[in-house]
Amino acid sequence: MLRQHRTLALFLAFVAVAPLVLPAFYVTLLNYIGLATLVALGLVLMTGVAGIVSFGQQAFVGVAAYATAAISVLAGLSPWIGLGGGLALTAAIALLLGAITLRLSGHYLSISTIAWGVALYYLFGNLPGLGQYSGLDNVPAVQLAGWTIDTNRESYYLIWVFTVAALIGARNLLDSRTGRAIRALRFRSVMAESFGVNTASLKLLVFLYAALLAGLSGWLYAHFLRFVSPHAFGVNAGIDYLFMAVIGGASQVWGALLGASVLTVLKEWLKDILPAVFQKTGNYEIVVFGFLMLFLLQRTRDGIAPAFERLLPARPARQRPPEAPPLPRRAQPPAGQDLLGLRGVVKRFGGLVAVNDMSFTMRSGEILGLIGPNGAGKSTLFNVVTGVLAADGGTVSFLGERIERASQREIAQRGVSRTFQHVNLVSRMSVIENVAIGAHLRGAEGSVAAMLHTDRAEEARLLAEAARQLERVGLGEHLFDAAGSLPLGQQRIVEIARALCADPVLLLMDEPAAGLRYGEKQALAALLRRLRDEGISILLVEHDMEFVMGLVDRLVVMDFGEKLAEGPPAEIQAHPAVIEAYLGGIE
Ligand code: ADP
Ligand code: MG
Repeated sequence: MLRQHRTLALFLAFVAVAPLVLPAFYVTLLNYIGLATLVALGLVLMTGVAGIVSFGQQAFVGVAAYATAAISVLAGLSPWIGLGGGLALTAAIALLLGAITLRLSGHYLSISTIAWGVALYYLFGNLPGLGQYSGLDNVPAVQLAGWTIDTNRESYYLIWVFTVAALIGARNLLDSRTGRAIRALRFRSVMAESFGVNTASLKLLVFLYAALLAGLSGWLYAHFLRFVSPHAFGVNAGIDYLFMAVIGGASQVWGALLGASVLTVLKEWLKDILPAVFQKTGNYEIVVFGFLMLFLLQRTRDGIAPAFERLLPARPARQRPPEAPPLPRRAQPPAGQDLLGLRGVVKRFGGLVAVNDMSFTMRSGEILGLIGPNGAGKSTLFNVVTGVLAADGGTVSFLGERIERASQREIAQRGVSRTFQHVNLVSRMSVIENVAIGAHLRGAEGSVAAMLHTDRAEEARLLAEAARQLERVGLGEHLFDAAGSLPLGQQRIVEIARALCADPVLLLMDEPAAGLRYGEKQALAALLRRLRDEGISILLVEHDMEFVMGLVDRLVVMDFGEKLAEGPPAEIQAHPAVIEAYLGGIE
């Protein structure tokens, strides 16, 4: 913490005094760096963190720049009205494009960003009244309380106030309830949904935020240069911004600043050198950037930010988060009530019937084991119950209400929480942050509160809850380790702590004991018994017979998607069909 504050203070001091001591040329360069940082920052959040690759951010810069130019030049209104108008138009276009393109996945999405980037470039160049390819000039300077911001140094402060605010806001955002969900978007969206995160609207939010940062940059650009033309908003610019985010460090907020600085300075420098080398004028810097990018991606996917980080003094060991008032808990249903009921559930994958006519009822307060050979359909059944997969037939009810059509999120809200057979952690995020995702629905603060840090009281309660759950499962020593650095067995336990963080009524666990050592299994069994005594109901898929037999109240046996038997462990152990199909195969 201290280290971070000192670094921040040094940075702010540098930003404040730089234009007073540097020659004019460097002030201008810093202005361009600030403008580019805003756009690259949006890309870091969107591409680096959330995994949505965009080549089209320059279009949003252009939309806002043209909007404010039109408002202030053609309509003669104040640039501040241009700011409002520019951002509003950017937001409207981003929401429209986002609603259409975010449904696309992977490459298709990125290709569509190129498409709109090109489309808007030609639109700027051809719209009558906007000066076409020669652009609009005489854009007025911004006035602030009677002061006209019309020199480079004055523009510097205007640009950097916004840039610093955006950097700090983005850093705060990532370190919050919403930020953890954003960090899970890239590889773990099924997991995030299962804890109640609305991943589609969160993606749109990140997309919108990145577009607004680009729009802000466009507004500043128009009133700093006092001129707009389509050329600044072509596809090349979009690629430059992406380079900046990747070179700087696509998953770190400060990477945007680094990338923007390095590329802007390098570009300026290469513009002088390369034409002399090639004896010809041209945009040769693109070639150098291309090779630089290739080289960096070979050497490090994380850009140069981690290298800079190493130059700073080491981070002191972090303390357990301070105690905070506990989060409210939901009432558990009385024991023995019908909790989960499946009637004739069917799930097909093409011709394969993975789950066929499965029916059973689970009562609150029990541990029900679901066993069966590999490929029997247990995980598929879990995915139907939790809403990851839609059933092809049958009904599922939870506490008397039908849920077979409900989304993962709705099911999570009702108190169903799960672990995954294949560990589903955000591996770079700390253990405690991973677990706090489990408490997503127990918090309510949104992204604006996070950026302004007005969410700290709730945040403290969420983190304290995550720490408590981790201590409860015996991982109190590992709160700040990267989740991916733990051995697999412990990662499974982290998954359990995360599921507990949701304060579940029903806990579904898919092979929690796989990969655990004997002692760890004993501890897990003891934990599950304790949870049952607290009133939590547990549906457990497990392979390890010994583990299951001593633990569960009843068993349901599946084979080839169908129910083979159901009953108390002793009865199941003696069941001829079960011995034939399953136990016989193992023993
Ligand atoms: P279990 O968890 O009991 O080992 P699963 O539910 O994972 O079994 O799988 C049941 C059957 O469904 C298997 O034959 C598996 O190959 C198939 N299956 C599971 N998921 C899919 C999927 N997404 N697409 C196609 N087939 C699947
Ligand atoms: Mg399975």
